[in-house]
Amino acid sequence: MTDIKSLTLLELQEEMERLGEKKFRAKQVYGWMHEKLADHFDEMTNLSKALRERLSKEYELPALKFIKVQQSGQDGTCKFLFGLPDGHVIESVLMRYHYGNSVCISSQVGCRMGCRFCASTLGGLQRGLRPSEMLDQIYQIQKWSKERVHNVVVMGTGEPLDNYDSLLRFLHLLTCEGGLHISQRNVTVSTCGIVPKMRKLAEEKLQITLALSLHASTQEKRKALMPVANRYELSEVIDACRYYFEQTGRRITFEYSLVGGVNDQEEDARELIRLIQPLNCHVNLIPVNPIKERDYVQSGRQTIVNFKNKLEKSGIVVSIRRELGRDIDGACGQLRRSYIESH
Ligand code: SAH
Repeated sequence: MTDIKSLTLLELQEEMERLGEKKFRAKQVYGWMHEKLADHFDEMTNLSKALRERLSKEYELPALKFIKVQQSGQDGTCKFLFGLPDGHVIESVLMRYHYGNSVCISSQVGCRMGCRFCASTLGGLQRGLRPSEMLDQIYQIQKWSKERVHNVVVMGTGEPLDNYDSLLRFLHLLTCEGGLHISQRNVTVSTCGIVPKMRKLAEEKLQITLALSLHASTQEKRKALMPVANRYELSEVIDACRYYFEQTGRRITFEYSLVGGVNDQEEDARELIRLIQPLNCHVNLIPVNPIKERDYVQSGRQTIVNFKNKLEKSGIVVSIRRELGRDIDGACGQLRRSYIESH
């Protein structure tokens, strides 16, 4: 059965015509799903009962199942576990900032990228999420919190560019009129650096922010932390970032997780400056969130500050990511993993 929530408005119009329905019905159904966030055809009360029945026979209207919400006592961050129709579980996070609510969504069930410090990748990849399953994380969180979602970051479990077609459809449905209509500028997609897909994304000329998980300033060190670096040279990754900026005018965000004694030394900062200074970019330093399966440790507070200062002195814009939700398995993939382990 076709997943009706992953269809664009144009496709839905074609479907309505196929069913012998008036074209304007498509807009109504679309509005119910993407604006009013209906989970069932029964809720679509301005459609005839006969049409609602027909739709439920012909299409799937997938909705995520709430399994669990964990609320941080420290900062209002909430972590959600959702169930998918095939029994898999995924996690999403709601972060409350002074400038509005941000939701961090997963793009895949598991991940096959193998980054050494990341919990999401430990069980490998199960499958990519459908566009509707990416959207529904945001819809369910907005309904649950009764607060509007302003920003979306695709930084949860999975590698979004490893699920490219679904990602693009998701971005369209999220940002176009008739749905939540979130501005493209308020959407960030984070990648470990799949070069051909970064270039392809650049050519879509969207206004979304591309965040590149850099984590090291030499090819050698990057390889030790991120297996994807065996496929793409650091210079190619940086070129693709430059290309993204040229095509879209959007400043790149570099994510750099500081791992104690591994990539947080003065020489690392020096190399990093050399590497990215020519680019229009912003650096987000993330103190690594230790996971129990690996023995990586966080850098000391002073080391982090020194690293930041060094970058700033060379004119690079830097922020240190506030660690939200440390008390609720905040790191990528931790909550999902502890759930799977205990069931
Ligand atoms: N696959 C994408 C998006 C998901 S990960 C990517 O690699 O960018 C989101 C970010 O969190 C990435 O920068 C990732 O490297 C980082 N990350 C994952 N686990 C982490 C941990 N334990 N501590 C700090 N950062 C982590």
